[in-house]
Amino acid sequence: MAKVVYTLKRKRNTNELHLFEASQSEDDKCTPKNKSICNKMSTDESSENIFACQSEDYARTSCANQGRKVCGICVSHLYETY
Ligand SMILES: [Zn+2]
Repeated sequence: MAKVVYTLKRKRNTNELHLFEASQSEDDKCTPKNKSICNKMSTDESSENIFACQSEDYARTSCANQGRKVCGICVSHLYETY
């Protein structure tokens, strides 16, 4: 079963960081969705990956370290309870 992991990308023209959900397959590849969690960025607007294919725990810690550059809508998704 594919597990959900997270990739943080920098948007080219704004330098904002947005989170993408990605599905990880058994061979350790991961494919991000075309749109960020907040829907404000697409993968082709990315200038770089801050991290890729990381667990939710890792994403929380890393986004906290990045501070205000990270999109609030994307970050709040990590703190939702299911
Ligand atoms: Zn966002």
